[in-house]
Amino acid sequence: MNIHEYQAKELFEKFGVPSPKGIVAGTAEEAEAAAKAIGGDDLVIKAQVHAGGRGKGTFKNGFKGGVHFPKTPAEAGELASQMIGQTLVTHQTGEAGRLVNKVMIAESADIERELYLAILMDRGSASPVIVASTEGGMDIEEVAEKTPEKIIRQFVHPLAGLQPYELRKLAAALELAGDQAKQFAKLVKNLFKLFIACDCDMVEINPLVVTPAGDVLALDAKFGFDDNALYRHPEIVEMRDTTEEDPREVEASKFDLNYIGLDGNIACLVNGAGLAMATMDIIKHCGGEPANFLDVGGGATKEQVSAAFKIILSDPNVEGILVNIFGGIMQCDIIAEGILAAAAELELTIPLVVRLEGTNVALGKKLIEESDLAVISADNLNDAAQKIVEAVKTA
Ligand code: GDP
Ligand code: MN
Repeated sequence: MNIHEYQAKELFEKFGVPSPKGIVAGTAEEAEAAAKAIGGDDLVIKAQVHAGGRGKGTFKNGFKGGVHFPKTPAEAGELASQMIGQTLVTHQTGEAGRLVNKVMIAESADIERELYLAILMDRGSASPVIVASTEGGMDIEEVAEKTPEKIIRQFVHPLAGLQPYELRKLAAALELAGDQAKQFAKLVKNLFKLFIACDCDMVEINPLVVTPAGDVLALDAKFGFDDNALYRHPEIVEMRDTTEEDPREVEASKFDLNYIGLDGNIACLVNGAGLAMATMDIIKHCGGEPANFLDVGGGATKEQVSAAFKIILSDPNVEGILVNIFGGIMQCDIIAEGILAAAAELELTIPLVVRLEGTNVALGKKLIEESDLAVISADNLNDAAQKIVEAVKTA
């Protein structure tokens, strides 16, 4: 799960990570009022979407940039009216872009240096890692590719925790000394506390800035939380903005389905993550493109299968469906019932290939055969993939 920058600032405040105070606004009038409340003539207004690269992004209405620097409340209102309700395209959103529902107004900080700071979970070392760079404010992927020596990594022992000498090492590598090094160490220490306490899997501050006055501040924030730990954090779940998520994935999560939307045209309904991966691979191998990853799990109910089917059919890109079930705990007849229930409710006009194997397979096949559904039956995974790729091509 991700949150917006204005929400991230609330967490920063709670954990003592210095960052200019921001006010969120959903209309031009609110933006103007927010700018008045903040005061001064050095303001920043930012589009609130779950994607980076806003500064260099472009709105579909032609308006350039998701980050601007108004001088007056009236100008803040004017800028907000150009952004709210518009779709912002950045290098992280893809062509479709993201609808901007809210903007955030804050006091603009003066910048002397822009640094990069992130904390992530590192699979290889099975520990958190702090990633930092002197090259802040730009595309960090590009820095990593062109000048990998400018990316600093500090692994943190998961039990011993972050050590003062590790903070000093990081500060020195970022060429911070004296009071700035102290401010930086305190900020990273608090950010690390936040990272652990909130079960984050990613926190990224780009840029972390040093002001001409010598203060160290977080000017941007991107957060990712471990979905499996969200049950421990109802206050974070409350920050969830489902309008930022793929509607198919939101619907799937209501039914506890593991669903990830993809760009292809062949939908897959599979039980078990490994089998789902193998199914996607073999579709590709046969010259097709999967439209999704969908694992209905080991103990799916008829309702879940039916919901899964509906989600698949609501995707306009889907031109064919491959159901691949290996019945272990999952019974083939339950899957068959779910498919029939969904097909009865929705009109199925696209090819459907079903491969069932395992527990109650005879019963499952019988249910489908006795229905009036136009189902193409398959005996094994390879056969199934070939049949659906062929059916989609000729449909
Ligand atoms: P992103 O493009 O989505 O990563 O959004 P950012 O919040 O990082 O803003 C983009 C760029 O705008 C930053 O890299 C900064 O250079 C600049 N910027 C953001 N906030 C401020 C601010 O308060 N003051 C100044 N002077 N520049 C800012
Ligand atoms: Mn940024």
